[in-house]
Amino acid sequence: MTADNHPAAHASAPGSPHASAQTGGDLPAIELRLEDARAGYRTIEVLHGITMAIPSGAVTALLGANGAGKSTTLRVLAGLIPLRGGELSWRGEPITKMTTTNRAKRGLMLVPDERAVFATLSVRDNLQVIAEASGHPDITPALEAFPRLRERLSQRAGSMSGGERRMLALARALLARPSVLMVDELSLGLSPKVASELFAWLGTVADAGTTVILADQYTEEALALADMVYVLHRGEVTFAGTPAELGASELLAAGTPS
Ligand code: ATP
Repeated sequence: MTADNHPAAHASAPGSPHASAQTGGDLPAIELRLEDARAGYRTIEVLHGITMAIPSGAVTALLGANGAGKSTTLRVLAGLIPLRGGELSWRGEPITKMTTTNRAKRGLMLVPDERAVFATLSVRDNLQVIAEASGHPDITPALEAFPRLRERLSQRAGSMSGGERRMLALARALLARPSVLMVDELSLGLSPKVASELFAWLGTVADAGTTVILADQYTEEALALADMVYVLHRGEVTFAGTPAELGASELLAAGTPS
């Protein structure tokens, strides 16, 4: 079955441990829907007409090798680069032309990488700024989620390790109370222990009802966390389904004589 005619590409019904929002029946609500999306940079088209249905309150993993188009897909969802063709809707409402700022105001949040912090500000100020902007000035939830940051409150963010900056970026995202949290390459440059902690944290975020979209290499941890998987290859969706279905399709491919 190709990605385009997989039911998941249209209505997506993962047997999700995280999915909480239900439309009635057994189908989870769709948070974001990309239809035949095309996008790129200058003269180069990178996404060649991708279709995705991102379920609400669940973890969706965008997997693929370097250059597959995962970050570009997240940028399209965040509104950082425009669609050149196709449609994007959010809970059924077309948002193809909605600005990045308006998407962010309405709770769509992208954590691109560890640079998503103010390097010259202290950890406390990094947290305080976003907490105040969100109307809930208490930074305690971030410190409870990431106790290591409590020891670093006075430290300048730019002088922390990549893993700590990543934690700070995620802690800031938590304080912004997003309805959709998109994280690009969570595990990049992190020790396996820190990466595991952060993956586990993302699972709790989805359990609390937030829609999580994770772009990553093809890692076991991303697969273990995901309710729904899209595999991208050279700007096209080559698989859409649950992690279990992905496992089955790989076995099938491995057993298919060439
Ligand atoms: P990676 O893990 O390497 O980031 P990815 O799957 O996230 O991989 P993208 O970053 O979306 O892939 O890149 C897809 C293609 O778009 C690549 O060929 C890349 O060189 C190109 N590309 C990405 N960002 C830009 C940019 N700002 N300007 C021009 N081309 C870009």
